[in-house]
Amino acid sequence: MKTDTLYRGSLCKDQFRFFAAETTTIVQTARDLHDLAPLPSILMGRLLTAAALMSGELKAPKSELSLRVEGDGALKGGIALADKEGNLKGYAFEPQLWLEPPSENFLVGKNLGQGILTIMKQSGLKAPYSGTIELVDAEIANDLAHYYLQSEQLPTAVNLGVLIDPSARIRSAGGFIIQQLPFADTAVAKKLNDNLMNTPNVSDLMDMGLGIMDILKQFVFKDIEWKLSSQTPLYYYCNCSKERFARALLLLGEKELSELPDGISPVCHYCNKEYHFSGEDIQELIQALQEQK
Ligand SMILES: [Zn+2]
Repeated sequence: MKTDTLYRGSLCKDQFRFFAAETTTIVQTARDLHDLAPLPSILMGRLLTAAALMSGELKAPKSELSLRVEGDGALKGGIALADKEGNLKGYAFEPQLWLEPPSENFLVGKNLGQGILTIMKQSGLKAPYSGTIELVDAEIANDLAHYYLQSEQLPTAVNLGVLIDPSARIRSAGGFIIQQLPFADTAVAKKLNDNLMNTPNVSDLMDMGLGIMDILKQFVFKDIEWKLSSQTPLYYYCNCSKERFARALLLLGEKELSELPDGISPVCHYCNKEYHFSGEDIQELIQALQEQK
């Protein structure tokens, strides 16, 4: 399968910056891994694409971010994580949700309902950052634009596209973020806005064979000076390990652990890998806790 890509660049000598991503392979991987029905596939496609785009801002090594959406509708929500190295992962809260009539299975906002979007960023060195907004229309793109304006005072255009077959094959997924930086020329902002209004549906254009950069060049950046500063690969990758799960089990404490004499087999939400801790493994964890005292 084709490797997905994140593009970073700027417009008109850094008056605007942009991030663009092709995420078809990542979204297909998430679909297959979690056996997602069409509606949660579209939600996860948008969340993973948004996380990929936002990861373009991460600067410090080992920094990462997450987007978590929670709603009161049947779809409930999902979470997507991205790190600076371009690794993405996520899961849906209702992976097998199927609605009748079938036309309902493409309406993300309606089935997510009212709720919140929470963005968390961790850079290792600095204290973790967390920002929460109420969902605007629960279609994710507008919600993310609202988050940027409210939490970071950055006027931002967000476009997230996921096109799916009735058989739940991901035909195309991708998107872009364009941010207006302080002191940007309002004439350029207007031109950009007009171009955005005249841009056809991004996932349809991608399905016709256009790359995300072709779409930006031909439609969004028409008659505007732009520059690509980097392009890097994106992957669906989960960095879980038995050691990580062991650390999580230690947090349960001695009493809770002693109630697991036969062991436990936790499953990773992000990649479905199962880790087996035998009764002896649990005893070792209890011993480690006792030695810490
Ligand atoms: Zn995992």
